[in-house]
Amino acid sequence: MPWTLSIRKGDQVKVTAGRDKGKVGRVLSVNQEKGTCTVEHANLVKRHTRPNPSKQIKGGIVEREGALHVSNVMVVCPGCNKPARVRHQFLSDGSKVRACHRCGATLGA
Ligand SMILES: [Zn+2]
Repeated sequence: MPWTLSIRKGDQVKVTAGRDKGKVGRVLSVNQEKGTCTVEHANLVKRHTRPNPSKQIKGGIVEREGALHVSNVMVVCPGCNKPARVRHQFLSDGSKVRACHRCGATLGA
Protein backbone atom coordinates (compact mmCIF):
# COMPACT_ATOMS: atom_id res chain seq x y z
CA MET A 1 0.00 0.00 0.00
CA PRO A 2 1.61 3.29 -1.04
CA TRP A 3 -0.19 5.48 1.45
CA THR A 4 -0.02 5.23 5.19
CA LEU A 5 -3.03 4.02 7.03
CA SER A 6 -4.91 6.42 9.23
CA ILE A 7 -4.96 3.92 12.06
CA ARG A 8 -2.10 3.70 14.50
CA LYS A 9 -1.31 1.30 17.27
CA GLY A 10 -2.78 2.60 20.51
CA ASP A 11 -5.59 4.54 18.84
CA GLN A 12 -9.07 4.36 20.26
CA VAL A 13 -11.27 3.05 17.47
CA LYS A 14 -14.86 2.05 16.88
CA VAL A 15 -15.70 -1.07 14.91
CA THR A 16 -18.17 -0.16 12.17
CA ALA A 17 -18.81 -3.53 10.58
CA GLY A 18 -18.92 -7.20 11.37
CA ARG A 19 -19.81 -9.18 14.42
CA ASP A 20 -18.48 -6.63 16.88
CA LYS A 21 -20.01 -3.60 15.21
CA GLY A 22 -20.25 -0.70 17.62
CA LYS A 23 -17.50 -1.89 19.90
CA VAL A 24 -14.87 0.58 20.96
CA GLY A 25 -11.36 -0.49 21.81
CA ARG A 26 -7.70 0.23 21.53
CA VAL A 27 -5.70 -0.82 18.49
CA LEU A 28 -3.29 -3.58 19.47
CA SER A 29 -1.46 -3.94 16.18
CA VAL A 30 -1.57 -2.70 12.62
CA ASN A 31 -0.54 -4.57 9.51
CA GLN A 32 0.38 -1.99 6.89
CA GLU A 33 0.78 -4.48 4.06
CA LYS A 34 -2.57 -6.15 4.55
CA GLY A 35 -4.40 -3.05 5.70
CA THR A 36 -5.66 -4.79 8.78
CA CYS A 37 -5.50 -4.18 12.49
CA THR A 38 -6.47 -5.92 15.70
CA VAL A 39 -8.64 -4.16 18.25
CA GLU A 40 -8.80 -5.25 21.86
CA HIS A 41 -11.83 -7.39 22.68
CA ALA A 42 -13.15 -7.08 19.13
CA ASN A 43 -13.53 -9.86 16.58
CA LEU A 44 -12.41 -12.54 18.99
CA VAL A 45 -11.51 -15.80 17.38
CA LYS A 46 -10.86 -19.09 19.05
CA ARG A 47 -7.40 -20.40 18.46
CA HIS A 48 -6.72 -24.03 19.00
CA THR A 49 -3.16 -24.23 20.17
CA ARG A 50 -0.96 -27.20 20.68
CA PRO A 51 1.10 -27.27 23.87
CA ASN A 52 4.74 -26.34 23.40
CA PRO A 53 6.49 -26.69 26.76
CA SER A 54 9.77 -25.19 25.55
CA LYS A 55 7.96 -21.94 24.72
CA GLN A 56 5.73 -22.03 27.80
CA ILE A 57 2.68 -22.39 25.57
CA LYS A 58 -0.20 -24.31 27.02
CA GLY A 59 -2.46 -26.20 24.70
CA GLY A 60 -6.17 -25.67 24.38
CA ILE A 61 -8.54 -23.08 23.04
CA VAL A 62 -7.63 -19.45 23.53
CA GLU A 63 -9.57 -16.44 22.45
CA ARG A 64 -7.52 -13.93 20.56
CA GLU A 65 -8.28 -10.76 18.69
CA GLY A 66 -8.69 -11.41 15.00
CA ALA A 67 -7.67 -9.05 12.22
CA LEU A 68 -10.13 -6.40 11.12
CA HIS A 69 -9.79 -4.46 7.92
CA VAL A 70 -9.03 -0.81 8.60
CA SER A 71 -12.04 0.21 6.53
CA ASN A 72 -14.18 -1.47 9.17
CA VAL A 73 -12.90 0.62 12.02
CA MET A 74 -12.97 4.35 12.63
CA VAL A 75 -10.70 6.39 14.83
CA VAL A 76 -12.51 7.89 17.79
CA CYS A 77 -11.44 11.52 17.96
CA PRO A 78 -10.19 12.58 21.40
CA GLY A 79 -11.40 16.12 20.68
CA CYS A 80 -15.06 15.53 19.83
CA ASN A 81 -15.26 11.98 21.17
CA LYS A 82 -16.93 10.69 18.02
CA PRO A 83 -15.81 8.26 15.35
CA ALA A 84 -14.22 10.52 12.82
CA ARG A 85 -12.76 10.45 9.39
CA VAL A 86 -9.10 11.30 9.45
CA ARG A 87 -7.41 13.77 7.22
CA HIS A 88 -3.72 14.29 6.88
CA GLN A 89 -2.41 17.70 7.63
CA PHE A 90 0.97 19.31 7.21
CA LEU A 91 2.29 21.51 9.95
CA SER A 92 4.29 24.66 9.22
CA ASP A 93 7.49 22.77 9.98
CA GLY A 94 6.63 20.26 7.26
CA SER A 95 5.72 17.35 9.52
CA LYS A 96 2.60 15.41 8.81
CA VAL A 97 -0.07 14.84 11.42
CA ARG A 98 -3.48 13.26 11.42
CA ALA A 99 -6.42 15.47 12.16
CA CYS A 100 -10.10 14.91 12.83
CA HIS A 101 -12.24 15.77 9.83
CA ARG A 102 -14.98 17.05 12.09
CA CYS A 103 -13.34 19.24 14.70
CA GLY A 104 -9.79 19.52 13.42
CA ALA A 105 -8.16 18.12 16.54
CA THR A 106 -4.80 16.60 15.80
CA LEU A 107 -4.38 12.91 16.51
CA GLY A 108 -0.61 12.69 16.37
CA ALA A 109 1.52 11.25 13.61
ZN1 LIG B 1 -12.90 15.53 16.37
